[in-house]
Amino acid sequence: MAVVETALDWDYVIVGSGAGGGVLAARLAEEGMRVFLIEAGGDPQAAQRMPDDCEVPAFHAFACENPALAWDFYARRYSSEAQQARDPKYRPGQGVLYPRAAALGGCTVHNAMIFMPPHDADWNEIARMTGDVSWRAEHMRRYLQRIENCGHRPVWRALHHLGLDPTGHGWNGWLRTEKSMPLSVVRDDGLMRLVLGTVGGFTRRLPTPLLSAWRWLRNGLGDPNSRRRGGGSFEGICYTPLSTEGHRRSAVRERLLDVARRFPQNLHIELDALATRVLFDAQGGASGVEYLKGARLYRAHASPSGQAGSRHEVHAQREVILCGGAFNTPQLLMLSGVGPARELRAHGIGVQVDLPGVGRNLQDRYEVALTHRMSRPWEVLAGARWERGDPLWQQWHATGGGMYGSNGAAVGVVSRSGAAATPEPDLFCMALLARFEGYFPGFSRLISGYDDHLSWAVLKGRTRNRAGTVRLRSADPLDPPLIDFAQFEEGTPGAQEDMRAMVEAIRSLRALTAPLIESGWIAQELQPGPHVQSDEALAQFVRDTAWGHHASCTCPIGPKGQGGVLDSTLLVHGVSRLRVVDASAFPRIPGFFVAAAIFMLAEKAADMVLAAAHGTPTSVSDTRPGGL
Ligand SMILES: Cc1cc2nc3c(=O)[nH]c(=O)nc-3n(C[C@H](O)[C@H](O)[C@H](O)COP(=O)(O)OP(=O)(O)OC[C@H]3O[C@@H](n4cnc5c(N)ncnc54)[C@H](O)[C@@H]3O)c2cc1C
Repeated sequence: MAVVETALDWDYVIVGSGAGGGVLAARLAEEGMRVFLIEAGGDPQAAQRMPDDCEVPAFHAFACENPALAWDFYARRYSSEAQQARDPKYRPGQGVLYPRAAALGGCTVHNAMIFMPPHDADWNEIARMTGDVSWRAEHMRRYLQRIENCGHRPVWRALHHLGLDPTGHGWNGWLRTEKSMPLSVVRDDGLMRLVLGTVGGFTRRLPTPLLSAWRWLRNGLGDPNSRRRGGGSFEGICYTPLSTEGHRRSAVRERLLDVARRFPQNLHIELDALATRVLFDAQGGASGVEYLKGARLYRAHASPSGQAGSRHEVHAQREVILCGGAFNTPQLLMLSGVGPARELRAHGIGVQVDLPGVGRNLQDRYEVALTHRMSRPWEVLAGARWERGDPLWQQWHATGGGMYGSNGAAVGVVSRSGAAATPEPDLFCMALLARFEGYFPGFSRLISGYDDHLSWAVLKGRTRNRAGTVRLRSADPLDPPLIDFAQFEEGTPGAQEDMRAMVEAIRSLRALTAPLIESGWIAQELQPGPHVQSDEALAQFVRDTAWGHHASCTCPIGPKGQGGVLDSTLLVHGVSRLRVVDASAFPRIPGFFVAAAIFMLAEKAADMVLAAAHGTPTSVSDTRPGGL
């Protein structure tokens, strides 16, 4: 096949326009660098149900299943077939659906938009591990402020102009953040009972309810992102901040389009282009990327084209930066000869650098859902047909209000389980006005099929398991990789503690829902169901149904000898001018939701890349090797 060389030389070639790559590309272009951004997906605004599936917050599940964007990976949760087959979401021989978006903006165009930066401890741990203090939380805070344009703390927004701001929020960044529930939905009686019941039930179980209520008021009235100095990590009842503007999804895609419009000479976005290999110069440094041009080439696509695409090469004068996400970045590194030598040779791939950590250390949350049928439909969903033009769409379109302006999260609870690994809270539970039981083909139909369901989603953060893997299925870049999360007992030590935390979370949620069941507002617990009561039975329910959707850590920062792939400036060990900037770079999965952490990582990466370009030290001015 003939190779088409792109005519111009670029400073940077970036692969992937998602949470990592999109943010980085936009910042570098804005700072005057010339960036060639390769994205395997398109920007299918005219496809069926588009742009609504992406723009309307309540439609995010439909965005996940919209064939114009969907890359459907199938992952194993367990290598044991007997255990794997107990998951009702499992497709024999294939795995369990793990949705990703291949589109301008990556998974930020279909995700649930929840914006929750990680705990300080996550950054401090990277600083401790690497000896690079530029990762410390007090330094990372400035990236949050560069990113966020907080729209849900109006009083502090006004006061910050006077120099008063104890919240830690950003007010002038490119990402607008808002509350998940527009005020217009509070008229729903059932919804109010759910929220008040949760608040009451939670508060009554606290050892010092009054003191806790005072702290909650002082710390931001349920704003989980409030970071008062000395206030510690947020715990308690919270609302869910979303990256929306006027209750319309707005994130990385919009950021990229804005920068491309303002700096057209600096940012070239190459859509429908699948990177297949990093190119190296004679000294072994990264010099460019080979890619295949064509729509829907990758076989994870919901409807792959079956075409081979045309081969292109693009060269970078400064660096190549991989941002394909936790599955694709390790795949691309391995296809380029950077990875575990034995595995590469088994696929007939020449070894550029033997880097055993590539594709190891895969981590995710553990998530399960408790689902319930209410005794009557949610009033706020009256008239919902989940499509353009229905009464709720009209309301959302006119004002941003109503349930379609929300991702469905009515109320959240952040808490620390008795089995937490660190002092930070490790459980996030969220009440959704929908039926949601994880990801399987057609899962979005559960959302549109019921207007009288309540799901409490349990999300276990700070999981201990690091045993998951991403391995090559073949040397063919069109084949998705093999993914195995090796959950619970198949994973690294700590499975029992993680399981204990999950069981504890289910019991706590049952205590919150019990009054609603007694008073008849909840007609029935559907899943796990009232017959599932003992610790063992609950643990088996968790083992059989748990999923995750924040896959991370497959090319982690860390010393090579300990499975690390990147140094503290995100450069790949043993290859000059090659970095990784996406979810795969974290050594441990951060916080409760990963997108905000990736945005922060990408803004920091931009500083490090620019510092390298300008020949200045790559870390903050007070960096002292080992000097923490
Ligand atoms: C259903 C779902 C809901 C979620 N909800 C939330 C949420 O509410 N809050 C939150 O914080 N997180 C959420 N997440 C997680 C979060 O969105 C992702 O973890 C995050 O977007 C990952 O960022 P990334 O940069 O690593 O990869 P991505 O955002 O996935 O971007 C990778 C990009 O690279 C492209 N790419 C990959 N390989 C190649 C290649 N070879 N050539 C060219 N392009 C390539 C892909 O097409 C994609 O556009 C959710 C995830 C899912 C799946």
